[in-house]
Amino acid sequence: MRQYLEGNKRSLKYIVCNQCGREMKLENGIVQEGVYSGEARWGYFSQKDGERHLFDLCEECYGNLTGGFLIPVTVEDETEFL
Ligand SMILES: [Zn+2]
Repeated sequence: MRQYLEGNKRSLKYIVCNQCGREMKLENGIVQEGVYSGEARWGYFSQKDGERHLFDLCEECYGNLTGGFLIPVTVEDETEFL
């Protein structure tokens, strides 16, 4: 879950892991650690038609979630760093 500085959608005020509630490290509005930002847009054939869900996970909670997958995540080398 993230809160931006007023009137600035690029500069974060704070970001909190939705799973464990830990506030992640920020420096000048930029996250200083690994974070997974999830977004689901639910359409007509779902039970949540028209809803958009957003959440953030710290790296540890991401690992706990994906570590429970029957089929592991696909891992590729990242050639461009943000
Ligand atoms: Zn967490």
